[in-house]
Amino acid sequence: MQNPDALINGFKRFQRRYYKQDNSLYAQLREAQRPKVLVIGCSDSRVDPAILTDCQPGDLFVVRDVANLVPPYEKNAPDNGVSSAVEYAVRHLNVEHIVVLGHSHCGGIDALMHCDSDHPSGEFIDQWVMTARSARQKVEQEMSDKDEDQKVCACEQASILVSLENLMTFPWVAGAVHAGRLTLHGWYFDLDTGSLLAWNADTTAFEKLA
Ligand SMILES: [Zn+2]
Repeated sequence: MQNPDALINGFKRFQRRYYKQDNSLYAQLREAQRPKVLVIGCSDSRVDPAILTDCQPGDLFVVRDVANLVPPYEKNAPDNGVSSAVEYAVRHLNVEHIVVLGHSHCGGIDALMHCDSDHPSGEFIDQWVMTARSARQKVEQEMSDKDEDQKVCACEQASILVSLENLMTFPWVAGAVHAGRLTLHGWYFDLDTGSLLAWNADTTAFEKLA
């Protein structure tokens, strides 16, 4: 699907499915959305959260950005679309789970690993991906003897943990987690093998979910 006509044909299939063959789902959804899960995913075209998890409309509240990053809590910060989505999901929709969904071959993390903060190459990307600069520092310190692909992969996973840590700096996220109303998850989709891994805080490793 590469051009607008193909997108319109895709919409017609969606319309047939949800408005002509069976309109019950949207009859219910037009009253209100009640998703239980917020997914923070990457903008990458290969990792659409709803497609990867075979979800229906209304199942997921989704925010996607370059490298699936969450900045730390900063009240009244300008231009913070990610934080506003987290606020809406947690404080208004009362989601029960937040999934930070990272992936292999992430261009955003590749940019993080290779950017020069003193001499950014573009206008926005380098500054944004430096949100996870601590993941890059950790990889550079701990994996100096590894090859580049291994470092980028490790940084993709480490940056998921940075986003989980940053989520806990939002007072109402931390409050809901501590009250047992909200659970945070770090997931990693491996494009090469088609596997889904999840962060296990007990074993401190990403382990295969499916
Ligand atoms: Zn990505």
